[in-house]
Amino acid sequence: MNVPVFYYHRIGPFREGAPRRLNAAPEAFREHMQVLARRARPASLDTLVDWVRSGRPIPRGTAAVTFDDGYRHVLEYALPTLKEFGIPATFFIVTGGVGADDSWNDGSRVPRERILSWDELARIVAEGHAIGSHTCSHAVLEGMAEDRLRREIFESKKILEERLGIPVRHFAYPQGRFSLEAERLVREAGYAAGWATRKGKPLSNDDLTAVRRVPVSSWIRGPRFRWELFLMKWGLR
Ligand SMILES: [Zn+2]
Repeated sequence: MNVPVFYYHRIGPFREGAPRRLNAAPEAFREHMQVLARRARPASLDTLVDWVRSGRPIPRGTAAVTFDDGYRHVLEYALPTLKEFGIPATFFIVTGGVGADDSWNDGSRVPRERILSWDELARIVAEGHAIGSHTCSHAVLEGMAEDRLRREIFESKKILEERLGIPVRHFAYPQGRFSLEAERLVREAGYAAGWATRKGKPLSNDDLTAVRRVPVSSWIRGPRFRWELFLMKWGLR
């Protein structure tokens, strides 16, 4: 099945020195959501997984929107747009970064950025969006020792569920890097699905532990975004 599940990182004005692929300007993001609302059928990850599990055909044009890392900028630049177009999203959160900053990006040339607080996450939940786990520390899971791997996958779920009072059914692998061991634990922890990046697997009822997602940033504008949607809709990408 070829259902585009898009992922964004930061939405906001471009910062000098920051990697462009991790940033979508607010105007570009709004344009993407407008195209999705008009041309596709945006669904939540839960709806998507339920469809896949039930074996019912997924309506043509279905797409989903996700955000990694929990940048605070989404409050200002993404939430109002999602509301305007009635698009449900999933936010993948690093529990160790809540209310703090993206310390896992140290080493890049840009200053750290604020990450959503628990109160802000509760606001996002109240607007009808889902929260998923993106581990406790944002460390790459590939090659990690089992006891730490277990903590990153199980603990993050437990913390999010306790603090927000909601079930956490989705997991996203930092940098999209997964391993057989990580996939096994994602299943064991009770996640409905695990989400990777371009290197993930196609959406299929046989295996939902590391499903492919499509990166989006400012470089996809207008006709280009429509074209991408079109190609994916027909299974050509
Ligand atoms: Zn991330």
